Amino acid sequence: MKNVAILGSTGSIGRNTLKVIKNLKDFNVSALFGGNNISLLTEQAEEFKVEYVGSFFEKNKEELKKKLKNNFKILIGHEEADFIYENSEIDVIVIATAGISSYKALIKGLENGKRICTANKETLVAFSPILKKKLKSLPGELVPIDSEHSAIYQILSKAKRNNIEKIIITASGGPFYNRNDLSSITPKEALNHPTWEMGKKVTIDSATLMNKGLEIIEASVFFDLGCEDIEVIIHPESIIHGMVEFKDGSIISQMSIPDMKIPIQFALTNPDRENFPAKRLNLKDISSLNFKEIDQKRFPLIPLCYKALREGGTLPAVLVGADEVAVDRFLKGEISFKNITDTIVKVTKSHKINKNPGEKEIMEAINWAREEARRLM
Ligand code: MG
Repeated sequence: MKNVAILGSTGSIGRNTLKVIKNLKDFNVSALFGGNNISLLTEQAEEFKVEYVGSFFEKNKEELKKKLKNNFKILIGHEEADFIYENSEIDVIVIATAGISSYKALIKGLENGKRICTANKETLVAFSPILKKKLKSLPGELVPIDSEHSAIYQILSKAKRNNIEKIIITASGGPFYNRNDLSSITPKEALNHPTWEMGKKVTIDSATLMNKGLEIIEASVFFDLGCEDIEVIIHPESIIHGMVEFKDGSIISQMSIPDMKIPIQFALTNPDRENFPAKRLNLKDISSLNFKEIDQKRFPLIPLCYKALREGGTLPAVLVGADEVAVDRFLKGEISFKNITDTIVKVTKSHKINKNPGEKEIMEAINWAREEARRLM
């Protein structure tokens, strides 16, 4: 039996993880951490009979105590969450939180030899220069949940590293890839993704293609690759999630219907696979699979993210900080859709890159970018 802790259990990935675990016999949910949705968090805790329930926010302590009917060990705030990262009874930590707060969970969990399944790309991107140095020496195992990276992880599991030519990440293109005028887009339109059902931040990031840009840097962390080894291609059907081209010209791809429960389940069970009880891919239903090059002029966040990967240092962190604030403002109806991209581009232009940052400098760069983005808007 494997004991799982889920950080961010009330969000989209967290809820899907619980659905997956319900159908897996060798997995037990022992800890749930949530943010502000205390009603759902307590419901989940009672249903899965977990041992530990926590919220990252101190203000939720009383409500959490009041709403829980049975006896649970309650953990409040980032300090008390350490208990989970260091607890030898926990085998797997699923990071399903949003934003950059999961760095400590990632590092401490890996230091304590756990399998860390992460869906949080912001943390991987912002701390990429440090993670690339640290990951090799940590005893734990880092496994991607993001569908593209899961695909590539699956393909690379039996590959020899020196046989790889490049990896290819697919992008649906989001809802506006073929729309000429990007100026009048409303949050409601942008939240309507053509193929994937996801949280709000990642859905808006998909519409600006920032999500794909972040995934380029995320891939460089997971697979220890450089700019020239990572290609992105538009594939509107979201059936092929990732490909690897080998030096002999063979390309191997991974296909499935676009359902996050598939990569979540693989992250938990690999190298084994378990039966998947929901809808499957039926190749006879697909008339064609299309691919085309990304229009980098219309979506300048793609070349910007390649630049951030090349330059490294504090630049990836600045991208993450500026994007976070700009997307939040757009969702509140305070800036236009086009302003998201413009703001991120401007903030990165005025940043002086620290080429060799530590954790403190990366946090400072994120905060600087948030402030600078607010100032520009
Ligand atoms: Mg993805």
